[in-house]
Amino acid sequence: GVKVHFPVKRGLLFDRTVGHVYAVDGVSLKVEAGQTYGLVGESGCGKTTLGRAVLRLVDVTDGEVVFDGTDLAKLPEEEMRRFRRRLQMVFQDPLGSLNPRQNIESILSEGMLAHGIGATQEERREKIKAILQRVGLPANALSRYPHEFSGGQRQRIGIARALVLEPDVIICDEPVSALDVSIQAQVVNLLEELQEQLGLTYLVIAHDLAVVRHISDVIGVMYLGSLVEEAPSDALYAAPKHPYTKALMSAVPVPDPEVEDRRERILLHGDLPSPANPPTGCRFHTRCPWAQARCAAERPELVDAGEGHKVACHFTAEIESGELPLTRPTD
Ligand code: SF4
Repeated sequence: GVKVHFPVKRGLLFDRTVGHVYAVDGVSLKVEAGQTYGLVGESGCGKTTLGRAVLRLVDVTDGEVVFDGTDLAKLPEEEMRRFRRRLQMVFQDPLGSLNPRQNIESILSEGMLAHGIGATQEERREKIKAILQRVGLPANALSRYPHEFSGGQRQRIGIARALVLEPDVIICDEPVSALDVSIQAQVVNLLEELQEQLGLTYLVIAHDLAVVRHISDVIGVMYLGSLVEEAPSDALYAAPKHPYTKALMSAVPVPDPEVEDRRERILLHGDLPSPANPPTGCRFHTRCPWAQARCAAERPELVDAGEGHKVACHFTAEIESGELPLTRPTD
């Protein structure tokens, strides 16, 4: 039930609240230990804000973020410190998140010092060397600076920075979207290997369905602050049920040009509405090809739709059976 609403301020001193941006508006999901939950949706759907809310990098307006039996959302900052080491984040832009003036040893030591890991600099250095090797970077990386590495290597440094703190959970925010396609698979494979070796739990945030497909056990699809569909990865790819997921999937290219693409094409018309002024009822009704009068009036709950899917749509069964007429063109 997590909500993150940002106040919109106006006035000379920006002291007058004139509205809210409903970035995350009541999302419930569960990430099992040792598994990967892939969270997808267009930019601006609230997926990154949700990831940040889990780490308390933004304030949670309402709802609970339960980790290991403790609700982090309401924890005083002092107590939250105990959990910070165990929940780490890997950012989208490796260069932007690494201080260009610090060498790699200094970047990786910072968090270790803050969390009291390693009694001496020598001990910390040995640990950093071991982690650099684990993520596929040479030991001499220690004394070098971020600009001396390629994009893929910098993302490995970002992953190493998280790993030196021995976390249980890593939130990967668009971990490969800034990288060349040829490098993306290497970083995704590395994340998978590390999960297997270290028993890590991942929340992987991405706008690209192709990225989360292979790495995720479960995928959740967000639209304008809400979770609209959730299913095991294979089930979601085999048969998406929510109209928005269908549209996202129909935009993913078929990898083999020899294979005939028989999928239904669903083109979405119009832009993503503003999260400061979301549509009434089902938030997708302004773009949904099957929208009916009820959709604008009543917000659908995320409910069990069989075959492992949870779907937030009033007409899942009717769309599935082909009974519901289209109210907008799909291409
Ligand atoms: Fe489309 Fe209505 Fe279902 Fe929303 S509830 S996805 S508008 S059919």
